[in-house]
Formats: sequence, C-alpha cells, structure tokens
Amino acid sequence: MKFLELAQFFERLEGTTSRLEMFQILYELFSQADKEELGKVVYLTMGELVPSFRGLEFGVSEKLVMEALSKASGLKLSSIQKLYKEFGDVGKVALEVLKREGKGLSVSQVYEELYSIARARGTLDKVMLLINLLKALSAIEAKFAVRIIVGNLRLGVGEATIIEALALLLGDRNYRQLVERAYNLCSDLGLVAETLVHKGLEGLAEFKIQPGYPIRMALAERVADAEELIRRLGRCAIEAKYDGFRLQVHKKDKEVYIYSRNSEPMTEMFPEIKQAIMEISARELIIEGEALAVNEETGEFYPFQITIQRKRKYGVYEYSKEYPLKLFCFDLLYLDGEDYTVKPFMDRRKRLEDLITFRNTLELSDLKIVQSTKEVEEFFEDAILRGLEGIMGKRLDAPYTAGSRNFNWVKLKRSYKGQLADTLDVVIVGYFYGRGARAKLGIGTLLTAVYEPSSDTFKTLSKVGSGFTEEEWVSLKKMLDEIKLDHKHARVDSLITPDVWVEPKYVITVSADEITRSPLHTAGKVGDEPGYALRFPRAVGFVRSDKKPEDATTVEEVLRMYQLQKRVKIE
Ligand code: AMP
Repeated sequence: MKFLELAQFFERLEGTTSRLEMFQILYELFSQADKEELGKVVYLTMGELVPSFRGLEFGVSEKLVMEALSKASGLKLSSIQKLYKEFGDVGKVALEVLKREGKGLSVSQVYEELYSIARARGTLDKVMLLINLLKALSAIEAKFAVRIIVGNLRLGVGEATIIEALALLLGDRNYRQLVERAYNLCSDLGLVAETLVHKGLEGLAEFKIQPGYPIRMALAERVADAEELIRRLGRCAIEAKYDGFRLQVHKKDKEVYIYSRNSEPMTEMFPEIKQAIMEISARELIIEGEALAVNEETGEFYPFQITIQRKRKYGVYEYSKEYPLKLFCFDLLYLDGEDYTVKPFMDRRKRLEDLITFRNTLELSDLKIVQSTKEVEEFFEDAILRGLEGIMGKRLDAPYTAGSRNFNWVKLKRSYKGQLADTLDVVIVGYFYGRGARAKLGIGTLLTAVYEPSSDTFKTLSKVGSGFTEEEWVSLKKMLDEIKLDHKHARVDSLITPDVWVEPKYVITVSADEITRSPLHTAGKVGDEPGYALRFPRAVGFVRSDKKPEDATTVEEVLRMYQLQKRVKIE
C-alpha cells in the first residue's frame, strides 16, 4: 500500500464524527493493506512504530520538526513558527507549507524511514533524516508523518475499534473475543494482526503467552462490606491491599523486563527488583506484585508519595538505596513454558510460595483463607491499623482473567463519611473558557467522561473546575490546545457542547462527595432516563501519565459505585 493511501484513510478517520463510521473506515483500511504490511499499518494507526511497552521514543520536539519543515520547504523558520502558533499543530503546518507531489513511497518505506529517525542517536542526525523524508512526501503524507513523530497523531482510534475491525477481517465481528484474547496475552496489536493474516483463525486460537510481552492485567470489582465479600466469593483468600505500583515482572533467561499496570516498560526504575528476580531459580517466569517503599527499621510502609518518586529517569540508583522497595508478590502467570493463567488461583499461589523462599526484596503478599464475615472484618481492621488502604478478596478456583475486571478478585476499601470511597479516573474530552478570575487563563472548567468498553466510547460524567493550581491550569490548556479538534470526537457521546473539543487522550483522577443522577450527562443514560454525574468533583494530582483513556473508570464501575453508596447510606 502507498503511504499516500494510508494518509487518505487517516484524513477520513480524522474527519468522522461517528464511531461506527470510524470502524468501517478501519475495516476498509485493513482489508486493503498488503498482508505483509498489516502489522505496520496497525501500529501507525495508533501513532506508533512498535507497541508502547518497547519504550521506543522519537525524541523529536515540535521545535525540531519546525526546523526540518523550514529546510524542506525553503521557508523562513520564523514563518513556520508563526503558522505553528496559529494552528497549534505541526501536521497542519506541514500541510500548508509543503507543495511537492511526493515520490509515492510505500507504507513500509515510510515506516523504515520513521524507524531510522527514532533510532538515530543525535539530534542532528534525526533532523537530517527528517528533512530527507519530508522532501519525499506530499503535503498530506507529511501532515501525518510529522504528527506521528511528535507523538500526537490526533486520530484517537481506540484499541477496541481496531480489535473489532480485525475480527471482521476474519469474516465475522463475533471473532472479536478471539482477537481480544490474543491481545490480552501479548498487549501487541501489530503482532495480533500479523498472526491473524498469516496464521488465520487457528493461529489466533493457539496464541500463547511469551515472556517479554506484557499480559494485560486482571482487575478487581468493588464490594461494599465483608458480608458482600463472603456472599460473592464463599470460602476464599483475602490479602492485604498494598498501595504502591502494580508490576508485572518477566524473566527470560538472563533478561528481566518490568511493566507497569499500563504495560509501560519500567525495568530501569527498579534495579533491586531486577536483581532479586535474577536470583530466582526459573528460566522463564512471569509474576505480579505490588512494589512499595518500606522503612527498613520500623517495617512500616512509606506513603505512596515516597514510592512514586521512583518514577523518574535520573537518580534511580540513589533512590533505590535511600528508599528500597519491596515487591509483594501475589500472582504467578507463567513458569518455564507453562501457562499458569488458566490454573486455579490456589495452584498458582502454592507454586509462587515455592519460588519465593528467601525474603528480602521479594515477599509474598499476606494471605489468609477465610469463610466467615467475622474473619474478613478482623483482617480488614488489622490492615487499616497497619496503614493499608483495604483488602483484596480472591476466588480460590478462578483462573487469572487477563485484561478483565470481574468478581474473581474484589477489593474492599475503607471509606470516609460524606465522600466516595474511591476516586475516579476520567478522560478530558473538552473544556470551557471560564468566567471571572479564570477567564484570563482561557480555561475554567473541563468536560470529563468515563469509558464504556462495549461501545468503545466516552460518556460524559462531570464538569471539573477545581483541584488544580493556576500553573497547572496554564499547562493543561497548553496540552489540550495541542489536541483540540474542530468537532466532537467520534468516540465521545455528549449532550453538552464545551467551548473547545479535544481528542480523548488525557486522564485525571477526581474525588467527589457523591454520585447523583443527572439528565445532562450521558454516562449510564438509557433512553429518557437520566445519566449519572459527580457531586462536588475535584481533581487530585495532575494528568495521569500512566493511564490511557481506555484505562479510565468505566460506566459500569460508576453504576456499581452508585449502588454501593446507596447501600452504605441506608445502613
Ligand atoms: P484499584 O487500583 O483500587 O482498582 O485496586 C486494584 C489494585 O490493587 C491492583 O491493580 C493492584 O495494583 C493493587 N493491589 C494491592 N495489593 C494487591 C493484592 N494483594 N492483590 C492484587 N492486587 C493488589
């Protein structure tokens, strides 16, 4: 396929306001792509060259792209900068200033060029390569190439839509589960697409876990109290709920890979965990646990703020000495060629206990088998006294359900009166200019939404206007202006029209007093019934760099939180 054709598909994806149409365009694109190139087409559609867990970054700023555009077009840098100021999008600038026909490069050729730019060491080399590439592209091709380079393709195509379009490529949308299963086992949609075109249905059905490819993590449902925990799980395991980083640790011969909850590569941030895993006597291994900083003298857990400081590029070694982390291991997913995710929880746990024998950096999570409400309550009280945020309950016979939230695992958290027990992660879909003191900043309130996996859309839940400092508002506006859209995004469902629409990309955490019913919002809205909204929402922290929009709280979770809150009130 020519890169020009791909760019034309991108143009159509950018223009659509309907999620169904987005799906149809994607299906058309995937059917027309050459078999050999489908994997690359999938990555490029997501604005990437390789899956994000590989950690390949372009390292090319908007500023460098502008320099390259100036050289490739012969226009003065100041004119390019002026256009960028006006459009806020290097893609639109490229479209405006490049006037060539283009050399008709194929998708693979452009992919290779982009790859060389990402791999080039020095800034100078990167710019030279980029200038050469721009000289070979037409304006519309360049528009999308430069957007990919700065990490901002602005299409907002979700994984679920890609999965569905790939399923239809197999002949039936109902194959979605099969495609999804493979994706859950490797977090690599390009690899899934390649498997699908080369090995067909059978290849997909036989898809296996491979160390080095993150498994999408299993998630927990909420329960209101100890009584519900026992009612749902019966005789079960309960564990301390540690408040740190969830990590999935892979060992493959002499290599160790550590991934975050969102499958981001984090190996270099945890040298002590890497070292400890190397010492386990297994050739291939995938385990999960929660890492947190522990005061070695008192044995107490440090607050999350201390643990999170580890998420940095420099000074990791010093931090690992000052605040060493422990990994509280709670699951085993793979061991020496054997898939453990399909085995019952207790079998996985027993094998894990055999593996983690020496206790230093690696510890086992505290676990107790219980069958009465009273036992759960006692364990819970004890956990709270130790400064933990709550407990987890696990069904004894359940497999590890990759990429899904269900009642195989439940969480019971402490709650505070007059406040929701949990925070919510919401996606920013637009903003309002704001009134009064905020008007001078040009941003006053955010329109935010939660995710609905079944339709792969974002449903509005709340306006959020507090919780950020003035500096944070200023940075937020800058970040949002870089992804602003001329129209509502195809995957956003909203009855409210903000002053500025943006691509659903950034996730923020909010706390609120209560969930209420509201006719203004689309989260949980069915027919003429009202939807759900937040009462007194306020942002906690800044934009979550560790969460994709699809990792936001789901509509179902909002409904569940609403029900739990009602129940607690009556009691
Ligand atoms: P939440 O983030 O509130 O949805 O709670 C689920 C999270 O609790 C998981 O994703 C883990 O990061 C964390 N967690 C802490 N302790 C445990 C444990 N013992 N078992 C499983 N997950 C745990």
